[in-house]
Amino acid sequence: MQTVKTLQMLRTALAQLRGGSGARIALVPTMGALHEGHLTLVRRARAEADHVVASIFVNPKQFGPNEDLDAYPRQLAADAAMLEAEGVALLWAPDVTAMYPPGFATNVSVAGVSEGLCGAARPGHFDGVATVVLKLFNQVAPDMAFFGEKDFQQLAVIRAMARDLDLTAPHVEAIIGVPTVREADGLAMSSRNRYLSPEERAAAAVLPRALADAAQTITDGLQPVWLAKAVVEDELQIAGFRLDYIEVVDAETLAPIEALADRPARILVAARIGGTRLIDNMAINPAV
Ligand code: AMP
Repeated sequence: MQTVKTLQMLRTALAQLRGGSGARIALVPTMGALHEGHLTLVRRARAEADHVVASIFVNPKQFGPNEDLDAYPRQLAADAAMLEAEGVALLWAPDVTAMYPPGFATNVSVAGVSEGLCGAARPGHFDGVATVVLKLFNQVAPDMAFFGEKDFQQLAVIRAMARDLDLTAPHVEAIIGVPTVREADGLAMSSRNRYLSPEERAAAAVLPRALADAAQTITDGLQPVWLAKAVVEDELQIAGFRLDYIEVVDAETLAPIEALADRPARILVAARIGGTRLIDNMAINPAV
């Protein structure tokens, strides 16, 4: 595996990878501090493409002024070893000036799907995500790109951007969402889980359990949406969380819904425990 840190080196390495035969390239964007969730994306990508390009970039534009940009874990050597062991061909690891040279002035903003949920709690976050992902798509020109359903709203924002800006075939043929990878007790894997104290980590298992119960109860029609949300809110409060939001939305538009229609829906939550903000989401009526 080659690690490249400049655009020029990236272009040379990509030309070699593609060769004359048009080998198919998959991109897996990450912010590093890799875990099994990221590695599952890489394995899916390897299964679908000839070569996998992974990126590691802690993107300052998607962090708010009071968020954890400086504290965000950085461990490039360990991450590179994991990616190499998974058969990644190329690691794109630019520093901030390579990604945003002096004078950088463009912002990509996707209205609608960016606005509620985490977009309301983290102003500017999804502009930062869309801007960097569009740059990564232009830099790598992958045939396909892989993202986790763990960040469900992020996936919706990227799909909307790709649709609106014609980043569809033949540019990026497919944007593939991968189901959330979880710890044994159900907690969604996240680079931020390492911020949790042992007590917070134990309490955090309530989050996926409460969410799964609500998803099932709503799917089975046993409780109306408002009641199922209120139950989750109570359970999280008792476990020591401070709720950011709990919402049931249409899985495609992310518009809040009060009752199930004949369409896939999703329940999403963001909550803080101690100083750590955790997010999770699950499918409702997946059979539709
Ligand atoms: P991050 O490094 O947190 O920006 O995540 C990079 C990619 O990995 C994103 O597409 C995430 O949605 C995905 N990802 C992170 N955690 C998980 C997980 N537990 N399961 C599946 N995908 C994940």
